[in-house]
Amino acid sequence: MGTQATGKKHALLSASSSHRWLECTPSAVAESAYPETTSAYAEEGSLAHAICARKLKRALGLPHREEDIEIEELRDYYSEEMEGHTDRFVGHVLARYEEARRECHGARLLIETRLDFSFFVPEGFGTGDALIVTDGRIEVIDFKYGKGVRVDAVENPQMKLYALGALDEFDYRYTIDEVRMTIVQPRLGHLSEWSQSVETLLAWANNELHPLARLAFIGKGARHAGEWCRFCRAKPDCAMHRAYGLTQDARLDFHGMDL
Ligand code: SF4
Repeated sequence: MGTQATGKKHALLSASSSHRWLECTPSAVAESAYPETTSAYAEEGSLAHAICARKLKRALGLPHREEDIEIEELRDYYSEEMEGHTDRFVGHVLARYEEARRECHGARLLIETRLDFSFFVPEGFGTGDALIVTDGRIEVIDFKYGKGVRVDAVENPQMKLYALGALDEFDYRYTIDEVRMTIVQPRLGHLSEWSQSVETLLAWANNELHPLARLAFIGKGARHAGEWCRFCRAKPDCAMHRAYGLTQDARLDFHGMDL
């Protein structure tokens, strides 16, 4: 349950809510009428992300002042088990980076990179936890600290948006044919990887993503309810969601009937 406004600036069409605004295009504008909230789970996730970033930056000999400040601010959410979970993510990223360096001298690892995908999604941007760029391939690696829902990389729109942002940044410096999208969810012992050719990704971006994002940005299109309503801030006042809830209840009643 939400507790307070976060005060953080997010894109209207964020990558993390893209599974929702791609299904229900008016949802992003509808949600913007409600205050952004946070929760202990979200703060815990932010802390774990900052710990991952600091560990990776330390390994690369990079400054990590921003992470130090964030970790200090969120220290109330710290628990011992976070060390092991963040170590698993960091270990995976560094192993992948070593592999990439063996294949390509110019391989680069970038931590907490702003990824701009506004070419396809108006004002769209996000932050990539880790990005490995080599000639031939970009790999976007995302850390999920939550354990409530297992998240897969296959056809995951958030990962595809990050991959588009990474392509926009590096395509002119490297020859990239493929994007690999990886989700590491250590509390579930879950690792999900998926690759797609740049050609296929761009075809999706041009033919599906872009037209839907343009509608979503101005709040147009029909409301469409489904499992993506779960974290929609507009849900309490949404008639479409209410109707969907009733049909779900009816289905449950039907399946529960003694025929
Ligand atoms: S609750 Fe569901 S149907 Fe209603 S605006 Fe949100 S995503 Fe769309």
